[in-house]
Amino acid sequence: MEKTTEPISQQVETYLPSIYSLTLEQLQAWMVEQGEKPFRAVQVYEWLYEKRVTSFAEMTNLPKSLREKLTEQFTITTLKTLVQQTSKDGTMKFLFELHDGYSIETVLMRHDYGNSICVTTQVGCRIGCTFCASTLGGLKRHLEAGEIVAQVVKVQKALDEQNERVDSIVVMGIGEPFDNYGELIKFLKIINHPKGLHIGARHITVSTSGIIPKIYQFAEEGMQINFAISLHAPTTELRTKLMPINKAYPLPKLMEAVRYYIEKTGRRVTFEYGLFGGVNDQIEHAEQLADLLKGLKCHVNLIPVNYVPERNYVRTPREQIFAFERALKKHGINVTIRREQGHDIDAACGQLRAKERKEETR
Ligand code: SF4
Repeated sequence: MEKTTEPISQQVETYLPSIYSLTLEQLQAWMVEQGEKPFRAVQVYEWLYEKRVTSFAEMTNLPKSLREKLTEQFTITTLKTLVQQTSKDGTMKFLFELHDGYSIETVLMRHDYGNSICVTTQVGCRIGCTFCASTLGGLKRHLEAGEIVAQVVKVQKALDEQNERVDSIVVMGIGEPFDNYGELIKFLKIINHPKGLHIGARHITVSTSGIIPKIYQFAEEGMQINFAISLHAPTTELRTKLMPINKAYPLPKLMEAVRYYIEKTGRRVTFEYGLFGGVNDQIEHAEQLADLLKGLKCHVNLIPVNYVPERNYVRTPREQIFAFERALKKHGINVTIRREQGHDIDAACGQLRAKERKEETR
């Protein structure tokens, strides 16, 4: 395992917004306000996302006066790399410091089908899932779109050194993406844009714990993005024990919203199901799950959950994981088991941040 550490800055410098927060249309509007031609925005996007420069001074095809205006009003990235770890299996984990001293995690995973990044959307989380280290200190703040975009650019720059690229993105890191909906949608538009990072919609997955009104709203966005629900339990009672959000947004209503989403978009939905030893991993749970999902255009992703030191959950034995999978398959449910990665580098969501920045997660 390689590990590099930069000192943690205690100083909050004068804050200028990140230009990564602007969609191309917003940047074009800004150019017009400044008396510039809209095509300058495309040039800036090319410098930011194709050449991935780190200063406006490097944007040499822009007039000097415009570079000065950009420098006065924006920064490029506000993220500073605090820790970068590489696992034996190639998984890379990053801890970034934000402009106000908070920190966030981003993970790069290596798959047969390419490089995938898991991005964070909030500092902490207020959803309170009982198995999650990221929610222990509550929500500190939402991330701006530019802070989410910058995670992808930073990781892509690390991959540039190896002549590789980011192939796909999962929005499943720290935070509930639908609790930060406006910035999430801006982020998706920026990374998907042909002049932005140009990551195809079908290579992007957004996962929610089940904020029902936002599922209906997301269905109307007209994006071909993959959609996942963190389900983790087949009944209302058990789900409420694992995920308190189920009290506000109960399972039957959640399933109604998912059905609407599938009808409206024609797209398949993925259900994430974490297996917790002795809690939700018995054959009767698999039978209940098959019943709940009967007839739905969906896929189940079984996640063997790591032991969470702050919580009392333990791993499901290997044989039980396969038995659970077989029970779902028997009912015709499309199911896979998530491959574990980065075992030697605090790979579970929130673990690196929890370890390195204890004061933030209390
Ligand atoms: S699992 Fe996700 S939604 Fe639940 S508390 Fe953790 S970060 Fe929040």
